[in-house]
Amino acid sequence: MERTLVILKPSAVQRGIIGEIITRFEKKGLKIVGMKLIWLTDDILEEHYAHLKSESFFQRIKDSMKSCPVIVSCLEGKDAVEVVRKIIGVTNGRNAQPGTIRGDYSMSVQENIVHASDSPETAVVELNRFFSKDELFDYPHAMRSYLYSNNEME
Ligand code: UDP
Ligand code: MG
Repeated sequence: MERTLVILKPSAVQRGIIGEIITRFEKKGLKIVGMKLIWLTDDILEEHYAHLKSESFFQRIKDSMKSCPVIVSCLEGKDAVEVVRKIIGVTNGRNAQPGTIRGDYSMSVQENIVHASDSPETAVVELNRFFSKDELFDYPHAMRSYLYSNNEME
């Protein structure tokens, strides 16, 4: 099964909606295999947002992401990367479809509640960045046979 990184940003933590956001992923059937509260630093953010280094908002997004602790999590499921990107919606909360997390909770491009890996390759790199091997857990999901058919679990 595929794994993806989800970060609940300061906009989720400070607005007191951590539980609501995680509930959405749980209800969808994604399995939580890693989760912790951490305070991000410039070093890790410069790596994580390296693709935005030349953007005018680079400093602003770093400042926002280290304004308080965040929840980093690893979600597992079939096609987890694509499924989670659909659940969160497009970057700009004002354009995001109602029903998506950003569409339902955000009015902003920057303060858009969640980060999620954008491809399976990125997910591997990002999960290694935020989690050590012993912080990610393999365990049987009790609901497994009611979430997938046998051939989907292969
Ligand atoms: N961002 C911003 N201004 C922009 C574009 C992006 O502040 O014009 C922030 C926003 O919080 C976004 C993050 O930078 O989530 C990473 O940007 P990316 O293009 O990777 O969007 P995402 O993958 O998060 O949808
Ligand atoms: Mg991105």
